[in-house]
Amino acid sequence: MEFEKILKKEKLEREDLIAMLSAKGEERKLLFEKAVETKLKYVGNKVYFRGLVEFSNICSKDCYYCGIRKGNDKVARYNLSDKEILDAATYAHENRYGSLVLQGGEIISPAFTKRIENLLKKIKKLSNKGLGITLSLGEQSRDTYQRWMDAGAHRYLLRIESSSRELYNKIHPVNEHHEFETRYDCLRTLQDLGYQTGTGVMIGLPFQTIEQLADDILFMKDFDVDMVGMGPYIEHHDTPLYQFKDQLLPIKERFDLTLNMIASLRIVMKDINIAAATALQAIDPIGREKAVKIGANIIMPNVTPGLFRNDYALYENKPCTDEDPEQCLNCMDVRIQLADGEIGYGKWGDSAHYVRRKK
Ligand code: SAM
Ligand code: SF4
Repeated sequence: MEFEKILKKEKLEREDLIAMLSAKGEERKLLFEKAVETKLKYVGNKVYFRGLVEFSNICSKDCYYCGIRKGNDKVARYNLSDKEILDAATYAHENRYGSLVLQGGEIISPAFTKRIENLLKKIKKLSNKGLGITLSLGEQSRDTYQRWMDAGAHRYLLRIESSSRELYNKIHPVNEHHEFETRYDCLRTLQDLGYQTGTGVMIGLPFQTIEQLADDILFMKDFDVDMVGMGPYIEHHDTPLYQFKDQLLPIKERFDLTLNMIASLRIVMKDINIAAATALQAIDPIGREKAVKIGANIIMPNVTPGLFRNDYALYENKPCTDEDPEQCLNCMDVRIQLADGEIGYGKWGDSAHYVRRKK
């Protein structure tokens, strides 16, 4: 069978990836089997937690897809206090999450750089250097990335959103604040500084083609990223892209395509960390677990205080917005077991790819 031959290939070409991303029925089953086999061989069945703190929805950018974009005046803006952030970090540490992700809107200012620097030092201190820290704070200068690294951050997530410049320019305003080149250069700077570098894309965007998604996988491989977080695009009614909602793939197909992307990426980049995006859970209550089952090995349980979660609405139907972290944790344990995984409590769970690359 043609498809089986593809899965046995040492080097996958663009056409192979297109076939893999289009897989349905029996082919899809084979794709998932191969991804599981690869995952177990190269990264094992451990799933690592990154406690996610969405500490502010204040953003200086206007990405056309995002519910908290600057131009959305219907959003109640918030900015957690340092104490609230440190309490969330303490919670993650005490519950042996291993790592923390600080995520928020993109702000570029000396005061912001300083604030994050101080927070990083305090988080390292309160956890006795125990918590690993990932940042996801958008495009910053080399100096800022360096200062944050010196203060204790060692991973950075910056999704390229789409590796197609043409599509990138359709989903962002075309101006100096939203340039593809800047995003690309930031990713290179992060890698150059020695961060474990993560990127990702949205899947099922308006105008997006299966060929572009295959190119996204090749982009990640060529870039030699250490981590990937990618999830389905989910429309938000107060954003400019909402006008194209009738052109989107049905939500279930976007979900299935995301799983095909994750499985294909696992086969191509065998030893990287792949996160099961929260957006999967907005579509299917056990969406993230399904991703873990077929290739992902990272989960980012939300540890943002429940009060603020509703206001970090990037897309519609964002899950668990009214839950407390405790409730999340209890339910995660059971869920991961159901996905044939085992939680790596208290471990950083660094990307095996990064460790190998550094050697
Ligand atoms: N501001 C930082 C940045 O853009 O890198 C970090 C926070 S931003 C909210 C994190 C990610 O949310 C983005 O990289 C984007 O892929 C995702 N996102 C935003 N709007 C989305 C939507 N409507 N559907 C799915 N994901 C979305
Ligand atoms: Fe801001 Fe990030 Fe949303 Fe873009 S995706 S509007 S940078 S929070």
